Formats: sequence, C-alpha cells, structure tokens
Amino acid sequence: MPQKPGGVGQLFCDGLLVEEVATSTCAHCANITDIPSRKKMMDHVDVCRNCMRLICLKCVGKPCTPFEKTIDRIEADYYRSVQLRKALGL
Ligand SMILES: [Zn+2]
Ligand SMILES: [Zn+2]
Repeated sequence: MPQKPGGVGQLFCDGLLVEEVATSTCAHCANITDIPSRKKMMDHVDVCRNCMRLICLKCVGKPCTPFEKTIDRIEADYYRSVQLRKALGL
C-alpha cells in the first residue's frame, strides 16, 4: 500500500528518512532546544524581533533579555551598589 504524502512521521519511525537533528541555544535564557527537523524548526524555536536571534518558545512574547546582557546588568548593579556604599561611607 503506497504511503500518502504527509506520512513523514511514519517514514521517520520506519527509519527510512533520517533527518539531521539540530539544537538551538536560546539567546535569552540559554535553554537548549532540540530541533528534530529543519522544516519544523519554527515549531520549536522563534526569532526575537528585537535581537534577531533564535529563542525558545518559553521566551516568546517576553521582553528581549539576552542572557549575556543579563549578566552584564547584574555586574553593573553590583558595581553600582558598591559605589553607592562607598559614597554613603558604609
Ligand atoms: Zn528561552
Ligand atoms: Zn531578543
């Protein structure tokens, strides 16, 4: 019985079609998302319209917070608090 188009999942299970499995690291939270198929890539990841990088679906709709910048901000906050304490003589 010939397979109808659209039976990709079945073909995949039968081992007749082996697609490259890729991973994507979220630019916002550094979460690693497995992408079982490049064609279905956009079902698993999205592109942030602000930083134009791939993000995981959990970060879709949230403000752009690249994780490198988050670290920078934590350091900057820490530095500021140290400076403030010095200024206050604490
Ligand atoms: Zn994320
Ligand atoms: Zn972003």
